[in-house]
Amino acid sequence: MSAVSPGAARPPVAVPVTFGPPGGGGRSTTAPAVAREMPVDGPLVDVYGRVHRDLRLSITDRCNLRCVHCLPEHGVTFLPRQELLSFEEIARVAEAARSLGIESVRITGGEPLVRRGVAELVRQIAAIGFEDLSLTTNGTELARLAPDLVAAGLHRVNVSCDSLLPERFAAIRRRGELEPVLASMDAAEEAGLSPVKVNVVLSAGSNDDEVEAFAAFARATGRIVRFIEFMPLDGDEAWSRELVVPAEEVLARIDARWPLEAVPAPDADPAAPAERYRFVDGKGEIGVIASVTRPFCGTCDRLRLTADGSLRNCLFANEELSVRDLVRRGGTTEEIALMIRRSVWAKLPGHGINDPSFLRPARSMSMIGG
Ligand code: SAM
Repeated sequence: MSAVSPGAARPPVAVPVTFGPPGGGGRSTTAPAVAREMPVDGPLVDVYGRVHRDLRLSITDRCNLRCVHCLPEHGVTFLPRQELLSFEEIARVAEAARSLGIESVRITGGEPLVRRGVAELVRQIAAIGFEDLSLTTNGTELARLAPDLVAAGLHRVNVSCDSLLPERFAAIRRRGELEPVLASMDAAEEAGLSPVKVNVVLSAGSNDDEVEAFAAFARATGRIVRFIEFMPLDGDEAWSRELVVPAEEVLARIDARWPLEAVPAPDADPAAPAERYRFVDGKGEIGVIASVTRPFCGTCDRLRLTADGSLRNCLFANEELSVRDLVRRGGTTEEIALMIRRSVWAKLPGHGINDPSFLRPARSMSMIGG
């Protein structure tokens, strides 16, 4: 894998401030924050100088599945309807984010496609005019909704699929079957949602023997398979470091079979969580999201809005700012934007998974919006 340098540092995102990027381990360097006042105009920036351009919008905490790495099998309670932001309220926050330079939006959940009328929400978000508008889904409702989502202005989808073996797939999801999800990828492509990206959370001893099978799938279908390291955000709280399949191992195994090379800039976005690799023989692309073994906090440009209207500046944040009351009180776009700025400004240098003092957030992945 001479052309692949998985340990290489990503270039920091250019920022118009006088201090360097923060540390988070892995591909970033450590630099202290410089005490200064939060800017009230200009780029959406945190105290370490990271410019934020990406917003993850969770539109529901509900899910029709109970994937082992995400939700407990039993006893899940969902938020009462009135606690969820309405479509109009979500759009107001998205509009304020756009005014701050947010360029891309990913709609997620819970399972976003179980929220009734989701295409109307997509239409409202698309009308704001983001450069990239995508959605992450488990695929169960995608075939049915893909044409409406495209008509509403959705650009792309990521479909989660953690096994290509029907029985294992069902065991990981605890509900549902593989075949309709594979068919939903076809339907998404036919509707114009391409390239389809396929999210695979690897867990040692569960599905890590399928790395090569998924690479073959990427080569055969042209879908971009992204191997995600299991993070301590599972509802069962069963995560342990031993279950994490390091991205480096994934890359080495695939490269031994089909040589890989890193996708060069400008195609590869240094702020994106996935490190991208293409097959040297030209047949497809894969990615790794090495949140645990090679954290990319130093280039993180993401902000999250939960379904109940809380701004989170990190998946692993233990603090949130609720924007819901402000929106419901009739706050102006400028006031909402200021609250977004405050949330981003308070972002820590890294997620801290690898620190001895790490504390899991109270909310699991599905409740936050992955
Ligand atoms: N329901 C949708 C889906 O299944 O894609 C969107 C929400 S889901 C929380 C978003 C992504 O997070 C999925 O790809 C899922 O596999 C991933 N995910 C969930 N729990 C995870 C964990 N503990 N570690 C890493 N990824 C996780």
